[in-house]
Amino acid sequence: MASSPQDLFSAQDQRAAIESMFNAASLGIIISDSEGRIQQVNPFANKLFGYEEGELLGKKIEALVPQDLRAIHESHRRDFNHNPKTRSMGLGLDLFALKKDGTLLPVEISLTHYQRKGKREIVSFVSDITERKKIEAELKELNAMLEKKVGERTEELSQAFMELQQTNLNLQEEMEQRKQAEIEAQAAFERERELNELKSRFVSMASHEFRTPLSAILSSASLIARYHSPADQEKRTKHIDTIKASVHVLTNILNDFLSLDKLEKGKVENFPTSFDLDDFSKGLVEEVEALAKPGQRVIYTSGGGTEPVFLDKQLLRSVLLNLLSNAIKYSGIGMEIQFVARLEGPRLTIVVRDQGIGIPEVDQKHLFETFFRAKNAAAIQGTGLGLNIVKRSLDLMGGFIEFESVENQGSAFTVVLPQARNEP
Ligand code: ADP
Repeated sequence: MASSPQDLFSAQDQRAAIESMFNAASLGIIISDSEGRIQQVNPFANKLFGYEEGELLGKKIEALVPQDLRAIHESHRRDFNHNPKTRSMGLGLDLFALKKDGTLLPVEISLTHYQRKGKREIVSFVSDITERKKIEAELKELNAMLEKKVGERTEELSQAFMELQQTNLNLQEEMEQRKQAEIEAQAAFERERELNELKSRFVSMASHEFRTPLSAILSSASLIARYHSPADQEKRTKHIDTIKASVHVLTNILNDFLSLDKLEKGKVENFPTSFDLDDFSKGLVEEVEALAKPGQRVIYTSGGGTEPVFLDKQLLRSVLLNLLSNAIKYSGIGMEIQFVARLEGPRLTIVVRDQGIGIPEVDQKHLFETFFRAKNAAAIQGTGLGLNIVKRSLDLMGGFIEFESVENQGSAFTVVLPQARNEP
């Protein structure tokens, strides 16, 4: 159990102890009466405020309060007298006391009170907080400086982050561009490769297809030169026919080149007119039968509507002549060729079917490429241009072509013109 000083000291001892504490305290102690008149000041308080011993006695406590706060201090003092309690003064406020030399001293004050001879006396404990204030101010400054530093650093970091993001964006853009360039380079390479492929196909086609008729012409011409007598007329005629046929072949090749060139350059226009499909088809049959091998027959049948079609005659002629002459060319002696046209509403479907050599499966996907020729067609005269011309012509007419083929069994080419009767 804690014991109070009364338990240990006599009254006299107590007084002596209090006096000694009062005198030796490193804390200002000022005792004033209820009117605020200073009764006692300990040495530390005198030193704190710059007064000589006894100089403050009898003065109003407001002598130690800055001028502009004296009135309010008096009213606080009266409040304290009405309701005295031990407490700190000006809690949460910065308190200043007035020194004798007129300067201000930052202080912390606690108040207490007691009764002596029936009168209230108030004790003020005054601590000099100059050092604490200084440290607080330094701390505040340090804090502000740190905050500023943190702010600056944050700014720097966000700047760096933004730059990084920008760099990232630039890098992404660069990568995109590189990718694009790669794609373009790849496409250019692809075009180059296709062109080379085309060139080599052309060279092999030209060397093959020109050489045969040219050498035929050469040998026939030199043989004709040898036949002088009228009796050789039959032989001469035979060689002249060979020359004519060879020239015909060369002319056809050149015509194919010209047609394709015109189509490629967009010089061919789709110019539809109205005409009778049956008459037109029968005319074509007659024309191609001149090319037929012995026993070959082209059988034309038509189905569906009998109304006139509205198409570009030249383009349709070129499409069907190519398909029919191929059917004849790639089928053997005595084979039948079916040529079927069917008009259903505005849609015209034409099928050319043969029982010829067919197209090897591996070659089928290249069939419409310029100069392409299937492997099994090498011994048969051709340029590899016809189907390309067919496809381009159908594109112009708004139609398309499909085919089915089995090697050694035959092929069927189907042309579809969805708007064959669409008169303006
Ligand atoms: P060409 O007949 O002058 O070679 P095309 O472009 O008309 O050129 O045909 C390309 C190739 O398609 C031919 O070389 C041939 O290999 C193949 N082909 C076309 N039509 C037929 C067909 N009816 N039967 C078999 N093969 C065909």
